[in-house]
Amino acid sequence: VNVLDHGFVEYVDSMGSDALISTIAGISHDSTAGPGVDKLIEWEHFSPLEFGQIIFKVKCPIFVARHIFRHRSSTFNEMSARYVELHGVDFFLPDTIRFDKGVILGDNDHAHVKDSLHHFFKRAASLYKHLRSMGVVRELARIVHPVATYTTFYVRFDLRHLRDFLSLRLARSAQAESRRYAIALYSLASSRFPKTLEDIRPLYEEAVFAFRNPESKNPTVPGSSPGSEER
Ligand SMILES: Cc1cc2nc3c(=O)[nH]c(=O)nc-3n(C[C@H](O)[C@H](O)[C@H](O)COP(=O)(O)OP(=O)(O)OC[C@H]3O[C@@H](n4cnc5c(N)ncnc54)[C@H](O)[C@@H]3O)c2cc1C
Repeated sequence: VNVLDHGFVEYVDSMGSDALISTIAGISHDSTAGPGVDKLIEWEHFSPLEFGQIIFKVKCPIFVARHIFRHRSSTFNEMSARYVELHGVDFFLPDTIRFDKGVILGDNDHAHVKDSLHHFFKRAASLYKHLRSMGVVRELARIVHPVATYTTFYVRFDLRHLRDFLSLRLARSAQAESRRYAIALYSLASSRFPKTLEDIRPLYEEAVFAFRNPESKNPTVPGSSPGSEER
């Protein structure tokens, strides 16, 4: 699933299913079928959900990766700019620039911000190239790259913590760019674990609605959220 201008979320592998989670829970209830996942969630009997696991490959800007990496119960392996050359690396250039509330915009302000970012990214890339051509080691040359630079990693979630992740990052308080990744993750995970993620679907639908209807008065419009305090 493509996300933002150069990113993606790719399903890699998974272990278990809604049915396996029920079977695992069955041992507590002396039955092989076990209670439905909806019951486990209602009772907050969450540990059987940890037996479901799913692995994704994600390409996202570093500032989005920092949000995802805060979810410490997941397992990560990220590309390393100590070992990989950053020539031809991608930068996130927002489609629409969000401004502080109350700012009165001039005709060219959107274009000016986008142009400035574009030039800044080009400058970062050419400084990296220059430093490398001088023989500066990769692990130092990389420091010129901003948090808009795309990175790539594998992440493994268990279903209990994927639910926590999605509840926080699909919410209107999440930063719009991270919310887009949560939408992609939900869409890929819900086809493998539909029952385990069923009660989170309204949040997913609300997030999708917000991006499809940016002009709507719906309070979920990206940019109107208070979640952008996170660094
Ligand atoms: C809108 C928003 C704004 C945010 N702003 C900031 C911010 O400004 N700065 C910032 O640093 N983070 C910020 N965060 C990240 C937030 O504080 C959490 O780190 C993140 O949401 C992951 O949640 P978690 O700790 O529950 O998940 P996980 O790290 O996956 O942990 C899962 C659960 O394991 C337990 N756990 C994990 N590690 C520990 C531990 N070391 N000690 C005790 N229990 C542990 C906790 O019960 C936790 O709920 C923000 C998140 C959101 C959604």
